[in-house]
Amino acid sequence: MTLAAEPTTPDTQTSKRIHHWIAGKPHASTSGRSAPVWNPATGEIQANVDLASVEEINYAIASAKIASVGWRATPLARRSEIMFKFRELLDANRQELAQIISLEHGKVPSDALGEIARGLENVEFACGVPHLLKGGFSEQVSRGVDVYSIRQPLGVVAGITPFNFPAMVPLWMIANAVACGNAFVLKPSEKDPSASLFIAELLQRAGLPDGVLTVIHGDKLAVDTILEHPDIAAVSFVGSTPIAKYIYETGTKNGKRVQALGGAKNHMLLLPDADVEMAADAAVSAAYGSAGERCMAISVVVAVGNVADPMIEALRSRLPKINVGPGTDKDAEMGPLITREHRDKVAGYLESGKVQGATLVVDGRDADIAKNKGFFLGVSLMDHVTADMDSYKDEIFGPVLQVVRVDTYEEGLKLINDNQYGNGTAIFTRDGGAARQFQFDVKVGMVGINVPIPVPVSYYSFGGWKASLFGDTHMYGPEGILFYTRGKVVSSRWPDPSTSKVDLGFPQNR
Ligand code: NAD
Repeated sequence: MTLAAEPTTPDTQTSKRIHHWIAGKPHASTSGRSAPVWNPATGEIQANVDLASVEEINYAIASAKIASVGWRATPLARRSEIMFKFRELLDANRQELAQIISLEHGKVPSDALGEIARGLENVEFACGVPHLLKGGFSEQVSRGVDVYSIRQPLGVVAGITPFNFPAMVPLWMIANAVACGNAFVLKPSEKDPSASLFIAELLQRAGLPDGVLTVIHGDKLAVDTILEHPDIAAVSFVGSTPIAKYIYETGTKNGKRVQALGGAKNHMLLLPDADVEMAADAAVSAAYGSAGERCMAISVVVAVGNVADPMIEALRSRLPKINVGPGTDKDAEMGPLITREHRDKVAGYLESGKVQGATLVVDGRDADIAKNKGFFLGVSLMDHVTADMDSYKDEIFGPVLQVVRVDTYEEGLKLINDNQYGNGTAIFTRDGGAARQFQFDVKVGMVGINVPIPVPVSYYSFGGWKASLFGDTHMYGPEGILFYTRGKVVSSRWPDPSTSKVDLGFPQNR
């Protein structure tokens, strides 16, 4: 969606207003612009979120810059202590944060708790920042000369995040960026902005100095102001591919370090020897969890040979058991989509798939819940999908699982490698040799072997290939530490008058 920067007026259905977080406190916008925040389960507007003006963003970045000076000088032990305290507060407040996420995003609280747990892992990783920032030291590289390397923070860095993980993705960035000694300016999704404010409050309670974390709500105007601001050293982005490409190109043109993660189309390659029941459980969990609004969701099963028919049957038998409903229903396993517009777009792919020759085994538009006022769509299953169909070519980002039938492993591999995206993939097989060959051959950044959603643990790094990532470093983990710091190498000699002389030759180590 392209966001407009024209003035908007707040919707009058609600008086609740969501503000920025600048210099350690809520900051009511004077921009006169706002965006509605929907409750996807009821189809009603539940709040209006401030959209920042250029002046407000400049003010926020200026306060972050001031804070970055003192924060950079804060001892590692203290930074680590604050991370530990934050970890404890996040852990203690999981339930409240899950409710906040569920209300604005629509995912059920149990799913929201899952994203919090994965975000918490990143905070735990960042607690070890003293170890992570250790440099190297070489003694006596020349007579009386030592050389050592250190890593220093960049200053003020920014993050722009998507709606689908309103806590986890900000935590991917904030934990490492702040622990490394940077001030961090977050521009979360305007669709579910409250989780980031809750995180900011917890970090403040943990002892983070004011201004080290800023939350600015906004649209394209905010993003462009960040991308052009001379005091922003680096930008981390997670979102759709067209915007990721734009962020990468604009940010790097303006001299910034950029990592921009984009969209996905994740294939499960199902070999004939696979355990079909286990693969069907995994595919259903990975396709419909969070209503398919996950960048690591399995959206295509590539069934090799005669495994396709039993797989379709195994999938079909599981779908009626999935309980779709609002997060307030404790039995619900899958919630609504984020907006009405997005729900209709996803439904459009069911129609286009049908017209272009796919078989709609289960059509989510027929589900009773799809007639609800909220933005619900039932789970959908499409068979006989081919690579030329729009539903295959585009990222759907909804509760739609497609099955493509191929004859051989090579044909399946080619399909995956030819796809524009390369975020995640999985192979389901009992054949270790085939799995190893797939791991070697496949042009995708994160691979699961009988694991449907291979999101790396926090001490590895997360990132796709091809149109799923623009930039050189993956996110969080060791590559996150590299991204948020720059190296310095020091060659050091302490005065020793007895060895001092003038020598115009290029320094050599003897
Ligand atoms: P989006 O690209 O619409 O928005 C992401 C961010 O960019 C938001 O903060 C939004 O305000 C901002 N934005 C939107 N339009 C903009 C514009 N024209 N100019 C500048 N900024 C703009 O993405 P979304 O709908 O919030 O999230 C879903 C997408 O994110 C999916 O494509 C999904 O695959 C992707 N995603 C990827 C990963 C990953 O790790 N690769 C993780 C989560 C989500």
